[in-house]
Amino acid sequence: MNSATDVWGRVLNILSSDLTETAISTWFDDCRAIELSDSRLFIHTPSVFKKSVIEGRFIGTIKSALCEIFSGEYDVIILDDDGLKAMTEASSEPDYMYIDEYTFENFVVGNSNKFAHAAALAVGEGLPKQGYNPLFIYGESGLGKTHLLHAIRHSISKKYPHYRIACVKGDEFLNELILAIQQGKMIEFREKYRGADFFLMDDIQFIAGKIETQNEFFNTFNTLYELGKQIVFTSDRPPSEMHRLEDRLKTRLESSLQADIQPPDDALRVAIIRNKAEQLGVTFPDDVTNYIAENLISNVRQLEGAVKMIIAYRDIMDDDITVASVTSRLKDMFKGIKELIPTTETIISETAKYYLLTPENLKGQSRTRDTALARQIAMFLIRKMTNLSLKDIGEIFDGRDHSTVLSSIRRIEATLREKTEFSKIISDITSNINSIT
Ligand code: ADP
Ligand code: MG
Repeated sequence: MNSATDVWGRVLNILSSDLTETAISTWFDDCRAIELSDSRLFIHTPSVFKKSVIEGRFIGTIKSALCEIFSGEYDVIILDDDGLKAMTEASSEPDYMYIDEYTFENFVVGNSNKFAHAAALAVGEGLPKQGYNPLFIYGESGLGKTHLLHAIRHSISKKYPHYRIACVKGDEFLNELILAIQQGKMIEFREKYRGADFFLMDDIQFIAGKIETQNEFFNTFNTLYELGKQIVFTSDRPPSEMHRLEDRLKTRLESSLQADIQPPDDALRVAIIRNKAEQLGVTFPDDVTNYIAENLISNVRQLEGAVKMIIAYRDIMDDDITVASVTSRLKDMFKGIKELIPTTETIISETAKYYLLTPENLKGQSRTRDTALARQIAMFLIRKMTNLSLKDIGEIFDGRDHSTVLSSIRRIEATLREKTEFSKIISDITSNINSIT
């Protein structure tokens, strides 16, 4: 329903409201959409010169158009002939190589993830079991939820190649749903998900929010459940803390088998560092392993990043791997961790998505109730989460002046004081933003 060519056609349509026909035909007539994958659109142009012009002049506009279509950020990659050739040669490999490493064999088990791992393994055996359906895996970011979900997918697709597996992220489900509604393609949408033998949804917290999404999700979920199909969810929080879920949906999710993953303890951190280094063909001295394990404590993704960085430095700089060399390398990493600031685009698109709107709706002039509220929330969150001034924020929102921004922020602050329910909305949106950043 969403071929690269269709999407590119829609992009050109949007561009044509800003550019002249001559400009469009000069720069884009011989462009061809090659591929649309996760969040990237690949476009080919046979001319190296046009590639550089498109990259220099139009890339921002193309990205905004994509943002309008998908209510999310897309990257655009312009390929000339060489680029296309390289891509075609590489495409015998799967698009996201790393996902292929998300197998049970590569998952290191410790106290903090033992139960989730065992449950995932049982589900990965492929025969839906009463007690394990649905399976709901939750835990903070970077602890291995996506890894386990894909391990299940791998295992099932190997054992039962004929099964239809739907594996989707909560936010993708949402984007597809928005698009299907807009294009009147709900039948196709439903067929795709309700016909699955296995339904795996990563980061389900993204669907909390607008009632239409929850309805569609609820119906998909019920249909599959009643057919006895296996369902697996991951989320950054347990169902009981998904405040913006309708009660009936929450009740259903609460009856899942809930398996949490906690941050890794000392022993598991050490084991993971060893395992990741070994996979890259390197053995770290014990004091180095311990040093990393003592300092990076909250998250497996960071451990993995540290191991990769240390090995990359050794290769480039010909450094020995010692505690001293590692200390200076990791300093930046320790610092960086606390300083992650979301981009304004992320804040706007997550807020918009929560209200089933597009970022353009939020930045524009519409005054419908939802749009106005979502716009005020986005301004409030940008002020809270970034270093931007009121004036900067006003500029993002179609050149509104700083007093408008200020009064929007004040209104949100007042609502927060008056309605306790409202703080849950803000905290849901904030978590969504943080899990992307
Ligand atoms: P989450 O989905 O919980 O945010 P991911 O599954 O994306 O986390 O994990 C982050 C990274 O850490 C991935 O590269 C994953 O392979 C790795 N990882 C997490 N837990 C483990 C584990 N127990 N053993 C090996 N690798 C792990
Ligand atoms: Mg994940």
